[in-house]
Amino acid sequence: MGIDLTGRVVVVTGGNRGIGLGIARAVAEAGADVAIWGRDADRNAEAAERLAATGRRIHAATCDVTDEDRVAAAMDATIEALGPLDAFVANAGVGGALLPYADVTLEEWRRVMTVDLDGVFLSTREAVRRLIEHRRPGALVLVSSTSAIHGAARNVAYGTAKTGLLGLTRALAVELARHHIRVNALLPGWTITELAEAAYADDRFRAVTTRRTPVRRWAEPADMGPAAVFLCDPTIEYHTGDHLVVDGGYTVF
Ligand code: NDP
Repeated sequence: MGIDLTGRVVVVTGGNRGIGLGIARAVAEAGADVAIWGRDADRNAEAAERLAATGRRIHAATCDVTDEDRVAAAMDATIEALGPLDAFVANAGVGGALLPYADVTLEEWRRVMTVDLDGVFLSTREAVRRLIEHRRPGALVLVSSTSAIHGAARNVAYGTAKTGLLGLTRALAVELARHHIRVNALLPGWTITELAEAAYADDRFRAVTTRRTPVRRWAEPADMGPAAVFLCDPTIEYHTGDHLVVDGGYTVF
């Protein structure tokens, strides 16, 4: 018998495709009722329909995580539909344009920071407000990246934002322990999704990264599911402020 999330409510931002959808499916299969938040209403609806096949209650909210009011509204709608929150997976993110540092514009820098840091700040802050208000123990999972470990050359804004999430994870873990809220980061390695589509399609890059991965393949979004389920497990009390790397061994090779 695996981890049982029956009766728990889990929000996954960016849950309409890629890693977020993989995580949403895994937590639903573990028994949770799941809300997915994303900007594209059609993709949300399509993903919600697929997730409903798990037999769980699924709610889709149209939400841009960089918009403070939309985040609050999405949380209201989620709680109204599914009940109070137990776990929040801050997964929504964008990749960076691959550029030499000297060519990175302020606009590009801010585009990445706005989603990958501000969006995580706004959405997790809302989750924390509700968990404290409802006096519920809870779990936050911040989806960072192995770019927070290896030097993300030519992808500096992204690597910097994802490293920033480790700081946020640690600070929140310390501050929120008294509220019985655990905070951990999940660091996926190379995963086949739209975000990494161009990198995966590049034969040379795919071959080099695969060779450097002891497991000898890129991850599928489903590979991130079990780690996310573990980090959301409400029966765990003592695991907080950590980062869990799921990269097929890439960063230790
Ligand atoms: P995808 O591009 O496949 O999916 C991104 C998801 O985020 C979509 O559901 C998208 O929905 C949502 N999203 C993007 N911007 C916003 C926004 N402003 N507000 C709300 N939702 C938003 O990416 P991945 O699945 O690859 O990435 C998921 C996370 O995993 C990201 O944080 C990424 O940095 C991280 N990651 C990915 C790796 C990889 O190799 N793929 C490796 C390491 C980390 P919509 O467009 O409808 O808003």
